[in-house]
Amino acid sequence: MKEEKDARAAGTYETIDRLFEEGTAGKEELKELIEGRNEAAAEYLFEKARIRQQEHFGKRIYLRGLIEFTNYCKNDCYYCGIRRGNRAAQRYRLTEDEILDCCRVGYDLGFRTFVLQGGEDPFFTTERLRRIVSSIKERWPDCALTLSVGERPYEDYLALRQAGADRYLLRHETADREHYRKLHPPEMSWEHRISCLRDLKQIGYQVGAGMMLQSPYQTTDHIVTDLEFLKELQPDMIGIGPFIPHKDTPFRDRTAGTAELTLFLIGILRLMLPQALIPATTALGTIDPRGREKGILAGANVIMPNLSPSGVRGKYLLYDGKICTGDEAAECHACLERRMKAIGYEIVVSRGDSPRAQAHRAPRSES
Ligand code: SAM
Repeated sequence: MKEEKDARAAGTYETIDRLFEEGTAGKEELKELIEGRNEAAAEYLFEKARIRQQEHFGKRIYLRGLIEFTNYCKNDCYYCGIRRGNRAAQRYRLTEDEILDCCRVGYDLGFRTFVLQGGEDPFFTTERLRRIVSSIKERWPDCALTLSVGERPYEDYLALRQAGADRYLLRHETADREHYRKLHPPEMSWEHRISCLRDLKQIGYQVGAGMMLQSPYQTTDHIVTDLEFLKELQPDMIGIGPFIPHKDTPFRDRTAGTAELTLFLIGILRLMLPQALIPATTALGTIDPRGREKGILAGANVIMPNLSPSGVRGKYLLYDGKICTGDEAAECHACLERRMKAIGYEIVVSRGDSPRAQAHRAPRSES
């Protein structure tokens, strides 16, 4: 019994070493690594992940100012608190002026990336979004603009890119078709989500993908498939976080994911995609009060403080217990700056492009 345990442990360290050296490992190895993990293995993994993190990014942490501009959504994802079927949600939309005000406040605090995130709200037609994107880029041309507004036709993504949007976040949620089906209503499809991601890449966005961890019905095999999918997609950003139930959704009684597994996966992903931008997410900070610091120490290098007006923050409730819903932007910023400093990292005033995107941008910025 002990011998078997030792052999498993040795295998775990070997797989971490392989990930560190080669950036990849076999399906079975990854599965065993995840299922056989313990505190000592996690510490070893995080040490290796920090080496890769600091090789590419030093101890610099990039900020993304999140503006949650609408919580109307035409989709009915079973896990999400702003799904259309949630009659208890108090709906809101920010006006264009309110969105610009958020950017102004953020810019003065040192943000150089704004993320416009919302439900799939038909009010925000591509034309409306184009106007907003252009206004932001005109006023703050030194900032990067990220959109996270769900699935749209190719032409819309193209038009928004042409209006100046630089990046797009669209989590794939799960790389397993059948699993996707259990998390979404029949009118939504995994194929469509994935084809959107491919369109976004093709158009030239810096793309962010990612999955919820321990969402209902998720198995280790699914997670391994997620890792392989991400390795193949090579996104610039990877957002992962624990599933957390929301009281007014069909998954209200399901168990939340853990910070422990999320951190372990951040470590693995840092080794598999060393140059990726990986946020220590709000969901991670919600499930563990020191989740974001631990996320950075596991290999993450981005945090996404909220820039939404404090009056609406409590309404963008994707899950129960979401943190920072009562704070002002400046408070959030100061708090995170303190937290990062306490663990030896520094928040920088920078767009924080991924190294790959910087390589693409370089010729233009030199001219
Ligand atoms: N509508 C856009 C989309 O679908 O990509 C962006 C907004 S959506 C609410 C942003 C992300 O929130 C989703 O990709 C999902 O991973 C996450 N999310 C939603 N409900 C969640 C929950 N209950 N627990 C954890 N994360 C959740």
